[in-house]
Amino acid sequence: DAGRCHQNLRALAERARQLNSYLWIDMEQTAYVDATLEIVRRLQAEFGNVGVCLQAYLHRTMDDLVALRPLGVGVRLVKGAYSEPPALAFPRKADVDENFFQIAVAMLAPQGRPAAFRAVFGTHDALLIARIRAHCKTIGLADSALEVHMLYGIQRAEQLRLVQAGVRVCVLIAYGAFWFPWYMRRLAERPANVGFVIRSMFAR
Ligand SMILES: Cc1cc2nc3c(=O)[nH]c(=O)nc-3n(C[C@H](O)[C@H](O)[C@H](O)COP(=O)(O)OP(=O)(O)OC[C@H]3O[C@@H](n4cnc5c(N)ncnc54)[C@H](O)[C@@H]3O)c2cc1C
Repeated sequence: DAGRCHQNLRALAERARQLNSYLWIDMEQTAYVDATLEIVRRLQAEFGNVGVCLQAYLHRTMDDLVALRPLGVGVRLVKGAYSEPPALAFPRKADVDENFFQIAVAMLAPQGRPAAFRAVFGTHDALLIARIRAHCKTIGLADSALEVHMLYGIQRAEQLRLVQAGVRVCVLIAYGAFWFPWYMRRLAERPANVGFVIRSMFAR
């Protein structure tokens, strides 16, 4: 129910504005992308404090970025967690990683970038983050201009390393009555994550 979803999100955006905070909206399967972006555009026009997740595995994502950026909608770029057909998404991980990097370059480009635009990279991929940081250096952006978001409990050692280097790091924490099903769903999206979580609990 898009109308009800919009109303619920209006309440959250309003509360975020009162607290001088920011509202990030996640992205689900491709069937919901257009409806989600439409709500995001309406919320941004009304409140001006809204960002959305875009998925680098989708062929459409560069076009979505180009359309959203002038509106000042923040973008949290992730690789994408769902199983999508090749007509809609890159099937090969190497292509997803390359598309992530190309979109990151476009997000960081100073030309036409509104002051309010928030560019965020939601990934635990240390090599990809290193590549983005190296690109920032070549265009004269300091580490402090970079923002990386990770999930709670994952790659903690990398989070600390990035903070020490001056990168802004936020950790996404699931809370409320549904935190456990949400966290389990995120783990289940990628069975390898269960092993990662256990390993990262002991990582230095
Ligand atoms: C803040 C945030 C918000 C997200 N929101 C969404 C969303 O709205 N919609 C959506 O579809 N997806 C979302 N995701 C999930 C995302 O799409 C990926 O499925 C997930 O982040 C895994 O991809 P990756 O980029 O971290 O690294 P991958 O390419 O999966 O892995 C690269 C390397 O990173 C490290 N790594 C990866 N995962 C872990 C782990 N769990 N623990 C330890 N190390 C790890 C490993 O060294 C691995 O080799 C979100 C992710 C984050 C961090």
